[in-house]
Amino acid sequence: MSTEPAGTPEDQGQGDPTAVEGSKNILRVAVAGPFFEALDYLPPPRHDWEEPRPGTRLLVPLGQRRQVGILVGVAEESSYPRARLKAVEKVLDPNPLFSERDLRVLHWAATYYQQPLGEVLFAALPEPLRKPDPLPEPGQPGVRLTEAGWSLDPRALNRAPRQRALLEILRTAPAGMTWSNLRLRFGEAGPILRALRAKGLITEVQIQPSPADPLASDPAPGPTLTPEQEAAVTAVAATWGQFQAFLLDGITGSGKTEVYIRLAEAAIAQGNQVLILVPEIALTPQLKMRLQARLPGPIAVLHSGLSKQERLANWLAAARGSARLILGTRSAILAPIPRLGLILVDEEHDDSFKQQEGFRYSGRDLAVRRAQICGCPVVLGSATPSLESLRNAELGRYSRLRLTERASGAPLPELALLDIRNQPLVAGLAPPLRAEIAAELQAGNQILLFLNRRGYAPVLICHRCGWVGECAHCDARLTVHLAAQRLWCHHCGWSSALPERCPVCASLDLRMLGRGTERLEDNLAKLFPAARIARLDRDSTRRQGALEQVLEAARRGEIQILLGTQMLAKGHDLPGVTLVGILELDQALYAADFRAAERAAQLIIQVAGRAGRADRPGRVLLQTRHPDHPLLQLLLRGGYSDFARAALAERAAAELPPFSHLALMRTEAPTAGEALAFLQQARTLGEQLRPEPSPVLLLGPVPAPLERRAGRHRAQLLIQGAKRPLLQRFLQDWLPEVRAIRCSRRLRWSLDVDPRDLM
Ligand code: ADP
Ligand code: ZN
Ligand code: ZN
Repeated sequence: MSTEPAGTPEDQGQGDPTAVEGSKNILRVAVAGPFFEALDYLPPPRHDWEEPRPGTRLLVPLGQRRQVGILVGVAEESSYPRARLKAVEKVLDPNPLFSERDLRVLHWAATYYQQPLGEVLFAALPEPLRKPDPLPEPGQPGVRLTEAGWSLDPRALNRAPRQRALLEILRTAPAGMTWSNLRLRFGEAGPILRALRAKGLITEVQIQPSPADPLASDPAPGPTLTPEQEAAVTAVAATWGQFQAFLLDGITGSGKTEVYIRLAEAAIAQGNQVLILVPEIALTPQLKMRLQARLPGPIAVLHSGLSKQERLANWLAAARGSARLILGTRSAILAPIPRLGLILVDEEHDDSFKQQEGFRYSGRDLAVRRAQICGCPVVLGSATPSLESLRNAELGRYSRLRLTERASGAPLPELALLDIRNQPLVAGLAPPLRAEIAAELQAGNQILLFLNRRGYAPVLICHRCGWVGECAHCDARLTVHLAAQRLWCHHCGWSSALPERCPVCASLDLRMLGRGTERLEDNLAKLFPAARIARLDRDSTRRQGALEQVLEAARRGEIQILLGTQMLAKGHDLPGVTLVGILELDQALYAADFRAAERAAQLIIQVAGRAGRADRPGRVLLQTRHPDHPLLQLLLRGGYSDFARAALAERAAAELPPFSHLALMRTEAPTAGEALAFLQQARTLGEQLRPEPSPVLLLGPVPAPLERRAGRHRAQLLIQGAKRPLLQRFLQDWLPEVRAIRCSRRLRWSLDVDPRDLM
């Protein structure tokens, strides 16, 4: 902890003389804002309570305002004259919210990711606790029927069938139902709930976890583990109470989740809490049901799709230790978990673990660091491990556990390339793929089609003058969304009505080029009129519960063709699928980002992994115009591990991560000149600090690949260090100087340590 003086004399003002008598101690308090260090305060003047402990929220004066701060330490002395320090106004929590170890994790994150400590701590707090309100009572928010609701005959609502359905669901839960359970049973219920509340039929309640909850009290036994699963569980269980990172490298369907469940069970039995991270909100309901059926005690789910109150209740259940199992997306890694005994990260290769805005951090990397600080094992699982994790395993930092066979005994689907050069494509499908789809439909099987582009068509062009629909604010084309009758920018979210005429020459001959999932769905309906088709992309699943509904329908066999974007690749098992068609990935093979090939390979293997079961092995057809591409060939012949070995060798030769370490400084400003000039200045400061030759390289500045976004010009400077500590030391020395650069208010800059995305 630093002893830097906090704030300026103006900030701190005159101290309260009565405060000095209370205690000799100086309270070090982190507040939200651009403060890279904690601020010093005197203890509150009158306190009948004990001295607050680190991790407690305090109300402190700051300038003319009062703000919530978090106590991060207590010091004997301030390097600041005591008479000038202000006193804390109020202690907000009876007990600390964060344990000493949890604070240490957040402190580490602030330093490593070069973020103000207060910003990191506030990112870890649920929104209602950022205000100076007392903690609510423990419990889960939800709704229950009122007296009027109970006495109403549901038939009275016959003309409002959704309201009636909801009423009937609530009749099954006399104590009320939590929002999340309600959503699972009913889907998005917002407007219906409002209508029922307006009629006085329901009311909001805090639902206490009930020990009689059959899901929680009577866990079902699991299957007998395969020898590989057994070995994995034994290896991790040998490290209880000490830090060890594991890479659980298991093919899709090999029973990784079963391994997580056994480990969680053992950790909970020892009285510990377990944190499970998944990359997507959409993956939580399915996994939650599976965990609830097998593990005792309440589960706290943490992600941004919850209501504020629900999130707060779950966060408190984690912080108070009453939730044994915490299941969440990346930000759950910041939540306080006082008795953390095990961290599990599923689909660890997924880029969604990286927070791309504000406090930019990797939930996965932080999981490893947190396990180290808390002294517990961490398991990173994937069928397609990231090259970073594979390298860590190679170096012996992670212990690698393999599951090489599917638990069900089903063979992995067979992967084949389909050369589409000079083939007549209909609906984007080459004749052999069309024929196979028809045959599978005939046999009553299911088909999965993957296309990495949502919307109807990626280009709207005037056939007369060549005008192309482009975003007015970005260097990007607008995507046609036909159902919505709009042109949409996928980069900034701007949209406009679909024009009838060319805005330049007024011609009516506007044509749509290319194909997105929406158009594919249209085309397929014409091609296979008897088949039931469903689409899964961000547009079709915007409504809460929509994704689950489609997947459920697919599992019940009500859907024959399922088409979609990346969403298909993420952990949803569809055992009825026997054919997977990947329509185009060629763009990814030649993309500028050095991670593009790794992502493409992971996507292919993950999409493929959804298919097939023992009696009906699956088949994957990958359409390409580059059938000889070395990456595709490797993937085809040797699978992901051969691909990964070659890709790692390429990274080593090019000195790219994981063989070097990166940070990316980004700027955006109204003009390109301003954005570049700031980075040039930053670069000069950096060079003065580290005269060449240096183990840290500054590359750029250059305009960002997407140079204009949402009307702002963007530029970037890449910082590359051969070793992580060297890069870290450089950043520590350099950033204070960069922060001191006087620049226009219209310019914004940020630093991204270990960037995933170089856009
Ligand atoms: P992964 O997470 O690796 O994709 P899962 O844990 O979801 O794999 O397992 C895939 C399927 O195999 C699931 O239906 C699961 O219930 C089943 N399964 C897992 N382990 C076993 C086992 N030891 N014996 C029988 N079935 C198993
Ligand atoms: Zn025109
Ligand atoms: Zn745009």
